[in-house]
Amino acid sequence: MKTIEELIEAGVAGKRVFVRADLNVPLDGETITDDGRIRAVAPTIAKLAEAGAKVVVASHLGRPKGAPDPQFSLAPAAKRLGEILGKDVAFATDTVGDSAVATVAALGDGEVALLENLRFNAGETSKDDAERRAFAEQLAALADLYVGDGFGAVHRKHASVFDLPGLLPHAAGDLIATEVGVLKKLTDEVRRPYVVVLGGAKVSDKLGVIDNLLKKADRILIGGGMAYTFLKAKGHEVGISLLQADQIPVCLEYLAEAEKRGVEFVLPVDVLVSAEFPDLKGKTPANPDLVAADAIPADKEGLDIGPKTRELYAAKLADAGTVFWNGPMGVFEHPDYANGTKAVAQGLLDSDAFTVVGGGDSAAAVRILGFDENAFGHISTGGGASLEYLEGKTLPGLAALED
Ligand code: ADP
Ligand code: MG
Repeated sequence: MKTIEELIEAGVAGKRVFVRADLNVPLDGETITDDGRIRAVAPTIAKLAEAGAKVVVASHLGRPKGAPDPQFSLAPAAKRLGEILGKDVAFATDTVGDSAVATVAALGDGEVALLENLRFNAGETSKDDAERRAFAEQLAALADLYVGDGFGAVHRKHASVFDLPGLLPHAAGDLIATEVGVLKKLTDEVRRPYVVVLGGAKVSDKLGVIDNLLKKADRILIGGGMAYTFLKAKGHEVGISLLQADQIPVCLEYLAEAEKRGVEFVLPVDVLVSAEFPDLKGKTPANPDLVAADAIPADKEGLDIGPKTRELYAAKLADAGTVFWNGPMGVFEHPDYANGTKAVAQGLLDSDAFTVVGGGDSAAAVRILGFDENAFGHISTGGGASLEYLEGKTLPGLAALED
């Protein structure tokens, strides 16, 4: 993989450099609630601009359905990127249309533009190779060189991630280089005990990684939505909690495999439950009940780990040598369900371990809950991407950056 230094050495002044970034930030209306992903890629953009490139930044945001949808506009990200860079960022109101063409044509050397959401175009995420390729060609017409630095999207076989680098001379940005360096550390030699904490809501996305981690980790702590499929697999009532019923056989296999390999597989012992999902906007008090993990009422759902589990997980983290954490322990967006996630974050900080936090919501949670992000070993900008890397999969967006 070529670095941007090598690209800069070969000459970028006056050239249009397409930077595939991941500016998929959480939004509350037009307010960015966590700008971590923008800050993470800003140095790459600044470096290219300083070297005299005309920098054309592109990203996806959320999951629009292949057509413009104002709630997923990148306009707030353009504004924030400008503030972080300390310079104007021109914003194109489309991705490959008249506005994009005019905005890129107007760029002077060292200037930066952001295109509108890539996913406003069906070609970006299309499963049809020809359709994707056609969109990639439209993108390629806007640039001379390509820099891949959208780590959070490298596991996606999308036009801007996978097809476009094949059409232009390309390099990997500094963020991707850093992220891959850290993940390599987790797959090669790890300081033990190696503790993995998994939670969050995307249960089916995350079960796969356990297969591989069972061969590497010493302890796996489960929280968040995924806990309930495991609890159900163990024969417990989980009420109306998040459940991936079709994954129960897989969960049972994992539990058996963990036992066979001597990997400690730890499930919540108590949980906070409620008959209703909390009000995340008004944040009205949720008044959850605390129950044992094997006594969830049939009409309630588990929304956070309980105090005994918090203490247990803190103890399991205390002597760790390495920790990888992906996925909040509960619905941390509501203060009544944030304590599990807080306890795990604090557990990471209290250990002497090399700590890696992955996942868009997990990374945001750490910052939103008031922790100092610099106190962690590494906060990854990619959840799915880091999990698939740890699963041992080939990531399309990394493969495409190879020479
Ligand atoms: P990440 O982005 O870190 O990979 P996910 O996207 O998988 O994490 O999950 C984050 C979301 O999971 C949060 O919005 C949180 O509210 C939700 N969540 C956590 N625990 C539960 C639970 N028990 N039930 C429902 N949602 C949950
Ligand atoms: Mg998420």
